Amino acid sequence: MIAWGQSASGEMLHISDVPRGKACACVCTDCNTPLIARQGSIAWHFAHASKTTCNGESALHKAAKQAVLRIVEAELSLYLPRLDGYFSIKDSAGDTYSEKWVIDPVNIVPSRGREEFRLPSGVQPDVLLEFNESASIAIEIHVRNRKTDSDVEKYKSLQQSALEIDLSKLPWDASLDHIIWAVREAAPRKWLFSSKALEEKDKAKHKLEAAIDRIREKKLRAVREAMALVIQSDANRFLCSRIHRSRLKATSSAKDAYGEAREITQAADLTLTAIDLPWKQYGDNWKTEGCVNDKVHVDVVLALDSTCDLPIDKATPTLVLEFLSGRPDLTWEYRFRPKWINARHWQEALQGRANKKLSVLLRQTEQKKAEMDRFALRFKNATDYQRLTNLCKALELPPCRVIGRHISAWNTTDKVWKSLVWYYLLREEHSGFICTEDIAVDPWLGDLLKWPNDPDSITTREMDLRDWFLALTQDGLAKGYDNQVFEVIRMPERFCPWR
Ligand SMILES: [Zn+2]
Repeated sequence: MIAWGQSASGEMLHISDVPRGKACACVCTDCNTPLIARQGSIAWHFAHASKTTCNGESALHKAAKQAVLRIVEAELSLYLPRLDGYFSIKDSAGDTYSEKWVIDPVNIVPSRGREEFRLPSGVQPDVLLEFNESASIAIEIHVRNRKTDSDVEKYKSLQQSALEIDLSKLPWDASLDHIIWAVREAAPRKWLFSSKALEEKDKAKHKLEAAIDRIREKKLRAVREAMALVIQSDANRFLCSRIHRSRLKATSSAKDAYGEAREITQAADLTLTAIDLPWKQYGDNWKTEGCVNDKVHVDVVLALDSTCDLPIDKATPTLVLEFLSGRPDLTWEYRFRPKWINARHWQEALQGRANKKLSVLLRQTEQKKAEMDRFALRFKNATDYQRLTNLCKALELPPCRVIGRHISAWNTTDKVWKSLVWYYLLREEHSGFICTEDIAVDPWLGDLLKWPNDPDSITTREMDLRDWFLALTQDGLAKGYDNQVFEVIRMPERFCPWR
């Protein structure tokens, strides 16, 4: 619906301010077709006099531009919204510093308004408002089409302040007074670009740079003071402090034959056992020579931080004592972090040791597993009599002629399961603590003996184990912690488990 028509003189007229019908003498601002003012019982509006697809969509936009010019003529004020942001800088150490800047909101009275004024590089704002000789703000009225990023970029490159006023929520038939009120203060608005913000960012930048310089100066002062303490300390005092000790570590890890993760770590303590004094100065760093673990010649460097150019010789192992500027609460020995450079062959030697130890461990585990697998295979294919004979041999007991009664919960005899648990879980593993609940469902034993796994059988095994361990406790071989956990405290030679 169209509420605004253009008069012969080019002025935009509201539907309520014109005579009815063709007498309105207005044309459509988009297609120039004569308009008819319909002022009947439904909402008053303009209609095109002849059939057309035009919907006169820029009528309100044009009326709004006219409203901006009215504001200038009537010397009314315009509301400029607040703008703020952060300016950040990174210093040479990589720390970020930020400063907030703010432009307060203000009402200003423009001195001049120019419609369709062409700025350099072809940018044409809806209205250019001037405030004094030097300041101007491009006003963009948003009714249907928002300004795009490239429009914003153009204002940025011209460093021309630009304000977008959003009239998209205004009713289509808003009156002139309503539009003026919206443009002046009521409608939402935002800065597309602000040259004032540029000034504020610049101010924030200078403030930050000055602050960073002060912080750096303070850091340097702290470093020089700490360095002075180190440099002035005699060799004895230096070698008694904690900073001459450091540790190198290497870790080797792999999965063993059972698929368990195994890890071996090797560490070496590197201790400065001698140091040459005095220190030689290289800018803000100092250097001298020393000896590690009474045999290896090394360089020692005191450093402000590792980002500086350090006086390091590429071949010589060097202990870099890096200064921690952030901890003024610590005494000087604690304000240096030791770090080894050119210590690759030491690291490699440690790694070699870790790898070797791990491979020995893996081989042992593999042999153990193979042995257990062989045992399991023989055991599974044997009769209870053969099983007991072999277990007696392993336990260095005389052969046992009577194998005892078969117990269905164990799927073997009392003598066999007790010998098996004693030899393989207690004697071999020697793990100290035994949990009857765990042994009653042990997968390795269960597989060897083909245990039934119904709840009754499990409970029976658990109770048998408990009775057995209680008996061992009475014999002084084990110690009970509750009814489930026991510790074998004595492992007699040639012990017969079932007696
Ligand atoms: Zn039209």
